[in-house]
Amino acid sequence: MMKVITKMKRILNNLDRNRGFYVLTLLVGVIFSGISVLTPTISGAMITAYSNDAAAGRRMLVLYLIVGLFQIALSLLDAYMGKQLSLRQKQIMRYRVFKTFSQKDSIGREKIASFNSFVNNDIPSLVEQFFGGTIDIIKCIFILIFSAISMLSAHWALALIVFSVSGLILLCPKAMRTKSGKARSDYSDVLGKYNTYLQSFLGGSRIIKSYNYYHRANEIQENANVQIAEKERTLIRCQMNVQSMTSFLQVGKTLLIMIVGVILISLGQMKIGGLVIVVQLAQMIAAPAEVLAYLIHARNEVLPLLERYETMSTEMSDVSEEIILRDKIESISVANVTYEVDGIRILDGITASFIAGNNYLITGESGSGKSTFMRLLARIGDISYSGSITCNGNALEKISSTSYYQRVCPVFQEPYLFHATLEENILLGRPISKDVYIATLKKLNLEYLIDRYQGQELTPEIMEQLSGGERQRVALARAMVCKPEVYLLDEVTSSLDSSNSEAIEELLLHEEAMVVHICHKCNPKLLSLYDRKYLMSGGRLLVNK
Ligand code: ADP
Ligand code: MG
Repeated sequence: MMKVITKMKRILNNLDRNRGFYVLTLLVGVIFSGISVLTPTISGAMITAYSNDAAAGRRMLVLYLIVGLFQIALSLLDAYMGKQLSLRQKQIMRYRVFKTFSQKDSIGREKIASFNSFVNNDIPSLVEQFFGGTIDIIKCIFILIFSAISMLSAHWALALIVFSVSGLILLCPKAMRTKSGKARSDYSDVLGKYNTYLQSFLGGSRIIKSYNYYHRANEIQENANVQIAEKERTLIRCQMNVQSMTSFLQVGKTLLIMIVGVILISLGQMKIGGLVIVVQLAQMIAAPAEVLAYLIHARNEVLPLLERYETMSTEMSDVSEEIILRDKIESISVANVTYEVDGIRILDGITASFIAGNNYLITGESGSGKSTFMRLLARIGDISYSGSITCNGNALEKISSTSYYQRVCPVFQEPYLFHATLEENILLGRPISKDVYIATLKKLNLEYLIDRYQGQELTPEIMEQLSGGERQRVALARAMVCKPEVYLLDEVTSSLDSSNSEAIEELLLHEEAMVVHICHKCNPKLLSLYDRKYLMSGGRLLVNK
């Protein structure tokens, strides 16, 4: 009993705002099940009535017709609601997994591919086989219960035969449960792998061409393709095993009913109408029993996907006691910060203090840890460092990320553009006036892009047309339009020519904000604009005179 309640809770939890509709669909389904059993029962009773009294028989005929019509109407409603339910549920699930996914701060290609595969393949299966499946299972159970009552009224011996064989049929998928669940989860894994390779190859098509990588790339992709077929074959084999067992039992059941039924009639223990009812209902529940076996099997099969969905749709709980930054940022202090990956020390005991309104320069050789340090200040990705980083005296991890990013704008080394218009790429839905947008682009010498890409979405082809410097300036514009209190800039002028690079660096240093500028090479002319200069070397931050 507890198990059933836990299961129901799990379903309701995952149904979200679809709960009401789900219950309604279930109700229609159960009524439909009842009517489906009622028609054959009435037909048997009608035959028995005719053999006794023609008038009573005719009355039963009228009743039979009315119930029959009602059954047709309900079957249509039942099918319609089932389809609506599946459509709504898929929509909700896509919404929920994307919502969680979009909260993550850095997402690897592999994750993106497996997300794609989950949305395109696993969510539809999960909806059909788990959510739809549960309703169908309950409907089948009701058909079986109603039929049992009806058949018992004909003859207990026949009811016993029908139900014991049906019980055996139901046990079939249980026996296959572990095997089929594993097969389904393996299948989903290899599909995700296939998509990972696919995305990485498609994204690098230029490299494939210019490095003659075709042959090897095809081989790798085909290898994943073969694995998909292999896992699908195992999956089908499991399903076929269940099907062959159930068909065998089904035929045996009909044979037994006929033999025992004929004997009972000849012994005068049952009317012919009774056998008509049992034969029809046995036929009818043959479907539910068999279907039920499949449904249970299919539902077990997708349980690993449900677990994956639950993980994927669970919103990441931010630190429970979030601190909201209400005042302007006065300082960001870093004390003895050490960061290691797999035992390799990337940042080594960094201590520094960044004060509002000041400009900071961090230079250093490539690979010295500059971007990693900037990532920690920007709270992006893995932030499992030792030591402390505080903002206005609050531990960075405890500060609500929304309130932090309202004041701090990081601009990363690799500018990333979305498949959206230029304006959308810069404003990102923030309530910023058109004037500020245009003025910022003017400052960055990007005005000409407004006319060139007016209202156009930036396709991968257009993005390739943009120079590295243009993309970097778009990324800068994204930060500048919201007039942040702190800029965290990682090599943001590296792709610009020297005169542009100087102009833009100067522009940023004159912004009314704290600027932490990380760059590989510094411009000697602008050194005087910095309040403090650091050198990153082998993960250590040294003050540079
Ligand atoms: P910089 O920006 O100064 O060029 P980075 O901070 O990007 O240097 O990287 C510093 C060093 O740490 C590099 O050797 C880099 O390969 C390594 N590194 C950074 N992040 C990781 C990571 N997640 N896993 C392994 N190595 C990393
Ligand atoms: Mg770097």
